[in-house]
Amino acid sequence: MLAYTYIEQGKFELVEKPRPKILGPRDAIVRVTLGSICTSDLHIKHGSVPRAVPGITVGHEMVGIVEETGADVATVKRGDRVAVNVETFCGTCFFCQHGWVNNCTDPDGGWALGCRIDGGQAEYVRVPYADQGLSRIPDRVSDEQALFVGDILATGFWAVRISEIGADDTVLIIGAGPTGICTLLCARLKRPRRIIVCERSAERRRFVSEHYPDVMVVEPDCCKEFVMAHSDHGGADVVMEVAGGDDTFRMAWECARPNATVTVVAMYDRPQVLPLPDMYGKNLTFKTGGVDGCDCAEILRLIEAGKIDAIPLITHRYPLKEIADAYRIFENRLDGVIKVAITT
Ligand SMILES: [Zn+2]
Ligand SMILES: [Zn+2]
Repeated sequence: MLAYTYIEQGKFELVEKPRPKILGPRDAIVRVTLGSICTSDLHIKHGSVPRAVPGITVGHEMVGIVEETGADVATVKRGDRVAVNVETFCGTCFFCQHGWVNNCTDPDGGWALGCRIDGGQAEYVRVPYADQGLSRIPDRVSDEQALFVGDILATGFWAVRISEIGADDTVLIIGAGPTGICTLLCARLKRPRRIIVCERSAERRRFVSEHYPDVMVVEPDCCKEFVMAHSDHGGADVVMEVAGGDDTFRMAWECARPNATVTVVAMYDRPQVLPLPDMYGKNLTFKTGGVDGCDCAEILRLIEAGKIDAIPLITHRYPLKEIADAYRIFENRLDGVIKVAITT
């Protein structure tokens, strides 16, 4: 089969590999029907994910059809259409029992697919702990509708869940990349008084304004003044930092009102400064990522009910054979790209 493979730093290549096989009783083999490219794939390509193993098939956002299951897999069967979870988790350890699946203590736990074990930019993928890692897609939900359920929608949903947004809140979302927009989609479900999205790219600000006219957009240079002018208590009640820029963490807590919650979803390239003397008395609550991706069934229900629609994020479509082109467009943010769908 064809598999897009991490060869060495800076180099991915489409190579022929044998089809994956069941290795344990809780595995499933999924025939990938649709996949996507995530910014984390680019982090692997650029060598900033040290635990990524050269030679592995990349890709951790995908949907497909169950081809084969191990003897102990109970919740999915051959022929089921499924969304694949970015995270591998056992479901039984201390952390899994608390829903903190990102910290599953299993050796395969956490982000393994397309990083430490073969992922889904390929025709087939082996999914360990298939009962946890696969969610059946309702018949009325298309592959494209379900494509982001296991990764960026899971992230947005989790970020909103831990941020405890209330009806009177002003919510500031920093960053309107794919994960920022998914966070926005999930935040809108809470119907807060107002949502402000801060984004540097004019193209992405326009995307947000066009698709979500009820949302205010602002550029970073005037974000703080804008939030102060458009909030009821001297800053945002909830800030979600999804940008991960050089100065966006500082912006996040500066735009928060006293006693606000600041949720850090972003991954940073560099350490960030927490200037406690400057924020003394502001009594902020900080919450940090990564995603506990255990809400996929709920997200699929919301998609089925028409409450979440991530289809507008798919701006480009490519066959697996042309995935290198898809990477070029995605990596260089050409042609207004938000997300790419890869058909196999
Ligand atoms: Zn990802
Ligand atoms: Zn676990």
